[in-house]
Amino acid sequence: MVLASFIVIFDLAISSSIRTRFEGLLIGPQLVEDLLKKPALPPGLPANVLDDIPEGPGVYVFYGDNEIPLYVGKSIGLRSRVMSHFNSDHRVAKDMRISQEITRVEWIETAGELGALIREAQLVKRLAPIHNRRLRRNNDLCAFRWEPVNGPKTPELVSAADVNFSGLDNLYGMFRSRRVALNALREIADEHGLCHIGIGLEKGKGPCFAYQLKRCRGACVGKESAISHSMRVTQALHLLRMQAWPFPGRIGIREHDPHSRRTEIHVLDRWCYLGTLNSQMNLCDMLQTRAEPSFDLDTYKILTRYFKSRPRNVEIVLLTQPLYPSRGY
Ligand SMILES: [Zn+2]
Repeated sequence: MVLASFIVIFDLAISSSIRTRFEGLLIGPQLVEDLLKKPALPPGLPANVLDDIPEGPGVYVFYGDNEIPLYVGKSIGLRSRVMSHFNSDHRVAKDMRISQEITRVEWIETAGELGALIREAQLVKRLAPIHNRRLRRNNDLCAFRWEPVNGPKTPELVSAADVNFSGLDNLYGMFRSRRVALNALREIADEHGLCHIGIGLEKGKGPCFAYQLKRCRGACVGKESAISHSMRVTQALHLLRMQAWPFPGRIGIREHDPHSRRTEIHVLDRWCYLGTLNSQMNLCDMLQTRAEPSFDLDTYKILTRYFKSRPRNVEIVLLTQPLYPSRGY
């Protein structure tokens, strides 16, 4: 497979001459803070544990007795972040408990922030550490599918257990359960004066219950046309619309950490993470995979936030020609 084109989004170069002239003279506020705060290491950890942890980006895992995963975190400065758990004067109850229970620290270096974010989400799911917020299984996820022209007449509640969200357009929401989704739709309907029959919350000929309470503007009794009601449903759902994948196909995001000289390319398609390439892996192997990736809400959130933050020092490589059937680019 050929890398068909390159789109360089940002490449911020700091003047190397300035950096060289003042190197050794500058003491950053972070360093001062670190010097002033000598961490009281938790009793279960070896005294020299912090010496080995690098200062670059990555993910860390705290373990307790019997290798029980306690906590997974990520940072662009691993060592400082790990120290901060033990520097907080134990004002955070979670850190106090971690300090009492921790016996080992493990870490994975990455080439940048995105790699750390993705690995953190994967590890939290896999290890289910006791001090991380619990993540729901993806299969509970659901959303409304709404296509006023060609689709069903009312918003259709679809579940990630039945359909692959990465291949669908016109999705609204992302809700953690059916109950949450239906409650949200009910609130939206009442706020916008929508018909409960017209939006699929009630069955029957009408009038709907909301009309009797003067909340529905009367689509169920002929006071509002179906077209007008459909347009208002689209407007009401607008803020919940799932973002469209902003690229014409599969992409690679290249991250490089100048200190460790580590480089990684994260391969992504339609909000799905397909894998990370480094020097040991073959790009062709990854691109030849035909398995259709499954949608993951955490990855979707990580990526939408990441693109919104306009990341610096990354390259986005467009890998054209998706290798599985495309729907709705
Ligand atoms: Zn009604």
